[in-house]
Amino acid sequence: MSLQKEYACSECGKIKNRKKLRNINKSWICIPCQAEKRKEKRDYLLHEVLGVRRRSELEKEWRRNRAEKKKLMDLRNTLHPKIKGSREEMKKTPKSIYFYLTFTEKQVLFKKYIGLGLPEELADKRVKDIVKSLHELVEKLREKRLEEKEIGVRFREEFAKICMQPEAK
Ligand SMILES: [Zn+2]
Repeated sequence: MSLQKEYACSECGKIKNRKKLRNINKSWICIPCQAEKRKEKRDYLLHEVLGVRRRSELEKEWRRNRAEKKKLMDLRNTLHPKIKGSREEMKKTPKSIYFYLTFTEKQVLFKKYIGLGLPEELADKRVKDIVKSLHELVEKLREKRLEEKEIGVRFREEFAKICMQPEAK
């Protein structure tokens, strides 16, 4: 009957059967709490370390920006109807931003491939290929005329995805 033992989960405090608990760092944690903690850790890595922001958050911000821009344009058009399409419009053309991986980010990738058992030259080549593919992604998004800000986000998201991907050796 020893398997029938029950313990309290150190996170939620619920009493559960031994089989539904894991023992981590000498304390009990139930399976749902463990999954939740893993998710938190993953989110932390994505959002804080890799700089990826939640898409819902960003879309809200984009909507707000678009609405503000429209309000401003409407106001300007009512005040100075002739300005439309003039120099002021041209000035707003965004300058190209170059999206790149920092040295540390490349290190993260390099270590990942070393950790997967790749020899150094191959890990290095893999990192170079990724840098190239990210560059191509940016080019493609520019062709689609996405806003630079959005391209930046897609770039970070793609990079994060590559970092998190479990890969075959
Ligand atoms: Zn729990």
